[in-house]
Amino acid sequence: MTTCQECKNFFPLEEDPNRGDCVQRVKDPRQEYYQAKPVNADDDASSCSSFQKKQQ
Ligand code: SF4
Repeated sequence: MTTCQECKNFFPLEEDPNRGDCVQRVKDPRQEYYQAKPVNADDDASSCSSFQKKQQ
């Protein structure tokens, strides 16, 4: 299974690398910004349309 951990947008927490933030760049006609939401490292990413494979 592909998980958030393998995604470029996943940033693990220092105190608990099993949890982290999904940080994505959002663009709308007037501005561009980052949006973060809490996720787990082993959350299923196979149905996520924003998944991007992390380069090793
Ligand atoms: S929720 Fe989607 S975009 Fe965010 S870290 Fe997981 S797979 Fe990546």
